[in-house]
Amino acid sequence: MNVDVLVVGGGPAGLSAALILGRCRRTVLLCDAGHQRNLRSNAIHGLLGWEGRSPSTFLNEGRLELTRYRSVSVLRAQVSKIQPTERGFAFLCEDGTNGTASKVLLATGLVDDVPKLPGIETHYGISVHHCLYCDGLEYAGKPVAAYGKGDRGAELAIMMKHWVADVVACSDGTEVSARISLRAEPIRALDGANGELTNIAFQSGPDLARSGLFFSTGCHQASDLSERLGCQRDAKGGVITDPDTEESSVPGLYVAGDVSREVLLVAVATVVACRVLAFQRPGPRNPHPK
Ligand SMILES: Cc1cc2nc3c(=O)[nH]c(=O)nc-3n(C[C@H](O)[C@H](O)[C@H](O)COP(=O)(O)OP(=O)(O)OC[C@H]3O[C@@H](n4cnc5c(N)ncnc54)[C@H](O)[C@@H]3O)c2cc1C
Repeated sequence: MNVDVLVVGGGPAGLSAALILGRCRRTVLLCDAGHQRNLRSNAIHGLLGWEGRSPSTFLNEGRLELTRYRSVSVLRAQVSKIQPTERGFAFLCEDGTNGTASKVLLATGLVDDVPKLPGIETHYGISVHHCLYCDGLEYAGKPVAAYGKGDRGAELAIMMKHWVADVVACSDGTEVSARISLRAEPIRALDGANGELTNIAFQSGPDLARSGLFFSTGCHQASDLSERLGCQRDAKGGVITDPDTEESSVPGLYVAGDVSREVLLVAVATVVACRVLAFQRPGPRNPHPK
């Protein structure tokens, strides 16, 4: 398969890029492994026009919108190899799909380092979260825990005071230097029902009644393609790009969305993806020049 643009990743960034490229009559193959970062959540917050609605419906509707564009193909496939060639790139997917593309957009996203706490899996995305901007408002007036080893949880707890008054830092058996309401004992389990947290049990001492837990443990790139392609990356592993065009240090290779590790929100992922208008060379990069 030979296309103008290979889009790797079908989250908000990849889908938005494919939309704008399709509208510019570019041939696009979007390959997506299907592990979008917020699929664990029930609701997207902070996205105008989609406030409080489901992430999976958002993605389904995005994929449906792309079916209007004949030049855009969407494939459920993991891209395993991309190699620069004289005219662009050659690519190979795990299912054997292969071809060439003049440009590549990596929109492969991040994976959260969810703390390994017994009981966390059933609560994650419902009453256990990582992002205050996405989910903090729903906890105003409720008792909340801020989880993180060392000072990370304490720093998160201090930041959370803007959203919630009753916050206790949980450092899970590690020392904390900050002065903050703290439970330092190792956590035994998170308890609750239907995903709603009610209680944190510790290896010693009394349980702590909590309605929510936010954690600060970090995240990492979902794909090592940018590393294998030799893209320049910052100290956090984010791909460094030209701020005007989103092109990486590898000519013809662009990134959008969480991959850059800048502001990790759906709205930003979709807006940045629209800068791939630069793919339209020759021609104006700005569709509405002054
Ligand atoms: C629990 C949770 C809740 C959140 N809530 C909100 C919220 O309320 N509001 C908000 O604005 N943001 C929220 N976010 C952040 C939001 O999910 C991200 O900012 C957004 O998903 C980034 O979009 P993206 O397209 O860059 O990456 P993603 O949505 O993560 O999509 C990347 C896609 O690329 C695929 N992929 C990776 N490697 C390959 C490969 N080699 N080949 C093919 N496909 C590949 C992945 O499987 C995935 O499907 C939340 C995040 C989490 C974890």
